[in-house]
Amino acid sequence: MQYDHILIRYGEMALKGKNIKKFILKLQENIQQRLRAFPNVKVKRTQGRMFIILNGADPDPIIEKCKDIFGIQSLSLAIKVNNEPEAVKEAALFALKNSKDVKKFKVTAKRIDKNFPIRSQDLNQVLGGHLLSNTEGFTVDVHNPDLEIKVEIRDEATYVTSSVIKGLGGLPVGTSGKSLLLLSGGIDSPVAGYLAMKRGVQLEAIHFHSPPFTSDRAKQKVMDLAKRLTAFGGSINVHVVPFTKLQQEVFKQMPDGYAMTIMRRMMMRVSERVCEQEEILSMTTGENLGQVASQTMESMNTINEVTNYPVIRPLVTMDKSDIIQISQQIGTYETSILPYEDCCTIFVPKSPKTKPKREKANYYESTKDFSDLIEEAVMGIEKVRITADTAMEPAFEDLF
Ligand code: ATP
Ligand code: MG
Repeated sequence: MQYDHILIRYGEMALKGKNIKKFILKLQENIQQRLRAFPNVKVKRTQGRMFIILNGADPDPIIEKCKDIFGIQSLSLAIKVNNEPEAVKEAALFALKNSKDVKKFKVTAKRIDKNFPIRSQDLNQVLGGHLLSNTEGFTVDVHNPDLEIKVEIRDEATYVTSSVIKGLGGLPVGTSGKSLLLLSGGIDSPVAGYLAMKRGVQLEAIHFHSPPFTSDRAKQKVMDLAKRLTAFGGSINVHVVPFTKLQQEVFKQMPDGYAMTIMRRMMMRVSERVCEQEEILSMTTGENLGQVASQTMESMNTINEVTNYPVIRPLVTMDKSDIIQISQQIGTYETSILPYEDCCTIFVPKSPKTKPKREKANYYESTKDFSDLIEEAVMGIEKVRITADTAMEPAFEDLF
């Protein structure tokens, strides 16, 4: 005997009406997609349940993958047997014998198939007794068990499940539309992308690159971060913007105190153009109130003026230590702290305004026409598709 199924639990209680169907179908699709390296494994839905059918595959690496899939609340290994008392007993015994760190257990049986000869209540006792008399060192504890063995006698078969493994929760990626993540090489923006994905958002990313001031390694770092994020949400298109000319011009022509703010406004303008072209309805950033000069309330207000697209800022109120903790958990931290310069650190003005005003930014921008440079930056965008399981490849079919 062996575990042949994994039961997937999703938080359907939080969803209403026709969203449930969309949610479940997307979750099934995402799981299937993520497990495509296991060709024999199937994902199936039956009567309000979702199962991964292992077909002989080792469950451990599959469980590891599932722990990175948003929308799974928890999962359990399961055995499917026929609705026969002896088979059910044997499966429950297998579950107990193959558990780890368990002393106290309880059996919870549910009989849906009324043709099964033992009623739910009696079944708990019958199975509990069977387990106790065929093992040593276990006791039954119905109030505080280390393991609850669940037995469900359904019409088509019986499922016996063992310990509950916690999932990531959240919503399946792709159920909340798309957002364009402004991805730098820092700690914050990958975490912001992760948290947006947790709410079901599918990401594309945009990165502003200023060669030769920023190196290929700085760009590679961003690709590596995007790659890491694909573990949670599948492929990500990264739009790499050649930003050097526009950025240099901003820093040359605009007063020192406003150059940073205006450069950020340029980023928003270019990002909005990408959103329009790709039919993306929002942007996501790693901005965090009060962290640096460009992230004061005044600064956000002035930068945000140039777009009326929603800007999702998952980190805006978080403490840095909590952000770092998430980046460590999701495996982006080590890459983020690599020292390669990014385009915001090389042109740092001596005294950026911490309280820039909209009127002033508008006035300074009106003294110089940047539209050609913006156009050039947009036209020069290189779109790189980062997939979860293969090396980087350009998405030729989608190049502008
Ligand atoms: P991060 O750790 O994400 O770099 P940060 O704390 O360094 O953030 P800023 O440099 O002020 O903060 O950037 C704020 C946000 O602007 C970033 O989180 C990111 O979303 C976006 N951003 C900054 N630089 C770039 C870039 N070169 N390309 C794309 N987005 C960028
Ligand atoms: Mg940064």
